Amino acid sequence: MTDTLADSRTSSREFSEGVPLVVDAVPRRFAAERAQLLEDPGFGRYFTDSMFVARYRAGQGWYDARLTAYAPLQMDPSAAALHYAQSIFEGLKAYAQPDGTVATFRPESNAARFARGAVRLAMPTVPEESFIAAVDALVDTDRDWVPTGADQTLYIRPYMLATEPFLGVRPAHEYQFIVIASPAGAYFPRGVHPVSVYLSEDYIRAAPGGTGDVKCAGNYAASLLAQEQAIAAGCDQVVWLDAVEKRYVEEMGGMNLFFVLGAGDDAELVTPELTGTLLPGITRDSLITVARELGHTVTERRISVDEWRSGAADGSITETFACGTAAVITPVGTVKARTGDFSIGDGEPGPLTMQLRRHLLDVQHGRVPDTHGWLHRVAPAS
Ligand SMILES: *Cc1c(COP(=O)(O)O)cnc(C)c1O
Repeated sequence: MTDTLADSRTSSREFSEGVPLVVDAVPRRFAAERAQLLEDPGFGRYFTDSMFVARYRAGQGWYDARLTAYAPLQMDPSAAALHYAQSIFEGLKAYAQPDGTVATFRPESNAARFARGAVRLAMPTVPEESFIAAVDALVDTDRDWVPTGADQTLYIRPYMLATEPFLGVRPAHEYQFIVIASPAGAYFPRGVHPVSVYLSEDYIRAAPGGTGDVKCAGNYAASLLAQEQAIAAGCDQVVWLDAVEKRYVEEMGGMNLFFVLGAGDDAELVTPELTGTLLPGITRDSLITVARELGHTVTERRISVDEWRSGAADGSITETFACGTAAVITPVGTVKARTGDFSIGDGEPGPLTMQLRRHLLDVQHGRVPDTHGWLHRVAPAS
């Protein structure tokens, strides 16, 4: 059931220099249906009424930028992305603020990472201000879909894929940049619980010189079998090791990892350094800043499975957690490995894990001052 439609119009916004943002008439679901979906949105199940789409053609650049109705894409069956995975994506969130406005968190960092990914996948870049303009336009037009329940958010998924109909192997000449949005519930609606992880000793996520430091679709396709193995072993998540020596801890699924050495005010945080095979998470970067402000030493260095295991056993590693946009912070409780299982702490989420988690959520939801200018207000269209 939808409201009535108006006509398409050119908005006051631009996508990029000389490319106006056209706003199509979009059928909108009634408020009662939306309210029902927002009660328990889960993650990635429901999508807002609109989407943003811009097209690119080599020699012409970006064109036909529009907000339009959320609907299936029409694509040639030979479109390059469907065959050779020339495709990248981003993930960020919009947060309802206490003053009634809506803000995204560090969108310029997502825009910059998206541009780096485009270069790595031999795709055209979306100018950073155009990326942010597209996200803003979608969030603004569908701002009624930003949920206001405790720790609820609107998850935003920008992505780019090669749409040129051609089966030859070379960078495509045609692309689409699309932004969709999906309301997301609190990640731990019934309290935070540590996850169990499975060390992937058969499969690797990323090798030096590969694509591990960009968010390309193929990385995820290649990770699914190991994740399935983790589930079959009774674990929640897979932990990736370095491809060369299979000794150093890299990431957990699609999240970065932190280890807490010691406890109390003197606790030190260690996170795997960005060697080129890790995804440089924006949550990771934010937590490094926040932890240092709280007075903790944060070290970026390699950390081996042996160090993790012996530290967990002798109590020198007191907490381990994973972090990323979707879940913010997830404590890690137990580790399953061929070389022996072990657990960290006492099975409860650690105090520093919970303090950092609360602090970052408070910044994102506008409950404490945003001292770094991390929140980006989504202005209403004029
Ligand atoms: C997206 C992603 C992360 C987390 O990045 P954030 O910017 O914090 O959301 C970590 N690892 C992988 C593999 C990812 O794809």
